[in-house]
Amino acid sequence: MSQIRDDFHQADKAVAEPWECDASGAVVQVEGLFELDLGGAGEVRDFAFGLRPGMLTEGEMPEYLFRRTRGIVGLLKRLIEDGCTEAMESGAEELTPELLSRSSWETTTTATQRPARFPKFPTMSPSPLGRHARKAATASSTTTAGAWPVVEPSGLSDLRPLPRSLDPLEDESLPGYLLRLSYRLNIGPGPLVLRAGLPNSRRDRTTLIRIPVSFAVSLDEPDIIALCYSTRLSRREVDGLLLASLGSRYGALNPAYRGRQPHRGRDSFSAKRLQYNNPWVLTTRTQYCPDCLAGDGSEIQRSLGGAWRRLWRLPPVFCCPRHERFLRRYCHHCGELVQNRHSNDLIARPRDSELHPLQCRATPRQGELRAARPACGADLTQAPKDTEPILRNPRSRNALFALQRKFLSFLSPDGPKQVSSVGWIIPTAQYFQDLRGVVALIFMTWPQARPHAATPELARVIDAEAARRHGLFRRRGAEPRKNLRSTAYTDPPDDPVVTGAVLEIADRLLRSPDENAAADLLVPLVDEAKRIHQPISYPLRSPCGASIPLLVVLAYHPRGSRSRRDHIQRIAEGHSIRATSSCD
Ligand SMILES: [Zn+2]
Ligand SMILES: [Zn+2]
Repeated sequence: MSQIRDDFHQADKAVAEPWECDASGAVVQVEGLFELDLGGAGEVRDFAFGLRPGMLTEGEMPEYLFRRTRGIVGLLKRLIEDGCTEAMESGAEELTPELLSRSSWETTTTATQRPARFPKFPTMSPSPLGRHARKAATASSTTTAGAWPVVEPSGLSDLRPLPRSLDPLEDESLPGYLLRLSYRLNIGPGPLVLRAGLPNSRRDRTTLIRIPVSFAVSLDEPDIIALCYSTRLSRREVDGLLLASLGSRYGALNPAYRGRQPHRGRDSFSAKRLQYNNPWVLTTRTQYCPDCLAGDGSEIQRSLGGAWRRLWRLPPVFCCPRHERFLRRYCHHCGELVQNRHSNDLIARPRDSELHPLQCRATPRQGELRAARPACGADLTQAPKDTEPILRNPRSRNALFALQRKFLSFLSPDGPKQVSSVGWIIPTAQYFQDLRGVVALIFMTWPQARPHAATPELARVIDAEAARRHGLFRRRGAEPRKNLRSTAYTDPPDDPVVTGAVLEIADRLLRSPDENAAADLLVPLVDEAKRIHQPISYPLRSPCGASIPLLVVLAYHPRGSRSRRDHIQRIAEGHSIRATSSCD
């Protein structure tokens, strides 16, 4: 439901077509508009959605609203928002001029502005705005700061709000947002980043060779403040663009599940570390569903495309159940990564302002000697379905799409906070660490877990991948840096179907009703891993960040009267809870 957040532009339009009392066009647009800016405020939005159609477009309302806001959409949105809040508090069911008049600010005043709320739009003078509205608005927004409690980032006094901004789309990633906004502003993403005041460590604001990949994961506090200021996004909206805020759902993005000891540093510091040595977060590449990228058909998505989603950077998200497609990582035209060039580039061709957000940014390695080769530029929404992996057996497809739907519900902000793993209740974020641990064991010991595959077709998919990994493991054994050897089994697959197939088995094993049933399935893998390579199997048998119940299943052999259950309770100091009581 997001729309353009462009108050200057909208103000131009509104003034060019002043509302008539009986006009429906602009006013209908207004009715469509306020739903967007209330996106963050659930109650108010719900109330606004429930308003009687035509409430704002009939009777004296249009004239009143125009008189009150001078047609400035930003002010209109705020007036409606205030009115909804007022109505909710007073129990009114209608917005009326009388009710709205309780909102005390005026477009002309400089003294009675509502305090503390960061303005997403500038103060405007009541005089008619002409063709230079945008210029005037920009000037007023920076020179009449006294009228609004503008929080100007310290040390960035030369920073100016961007002339236009955008509402983030649902689950949009920061690189995706930068691509859309830079295209809209007709500058490259690199210059946009500089103009937005990022990174704060950079005093020279004229050149930026590359946009750091860390930006997708987290930003320093001064960078967040600068970005909020320049784009007029709220703190919450900026957080929502960053992968780090998925940490409550996804263990690899949660510092608590990432080390043998939880990292006890400043939050921002531990968030920053999430980008390093974290193969289960795709920091240097993104996946995508061509159909999702095409957008939802709304005006803004038709012009700038749909969201480059954050979830596409998590390997457990491997397909789009909505469009029944596996996600892609490589351009259908040139075969390269579509957004990144090197491992330390968040966005390739950062100065290229010509490329649409949905175009491939790779520079194909052709035989040309020209220094500046054109980008591939393929329209990524046009990726043909017939070049995508095919699973012939509908049971294979159904198994993977069902699994994906389950994972997406786990990852969604309103998904379950806790889920069951080997029969015990654990945090959802940690479940993904459990999965990841079991995946490594499955690969190392393949074909040991082969009988657990949902279909023979999915087992064959893993056969090929496991053969490749076994080969890599052997080759790495001959190399001096032997500590890299286990990554042959711990890294997530590059191919979405393989990822789905192996996660399907891992999920099946973790779904065991209790720790003993899980041990029946997992201990054979543990024993086989020890047989293959005792020292290297050790970290795979006690995976980082996995839940206590899983660690006990993988490592503990019941002796005498002490059962696995007792052992889990002892380690968890009695805090572990069983998912079921049926197996006591
Ligand atoms: Zn899709
Ligand atoms: Zn391409």
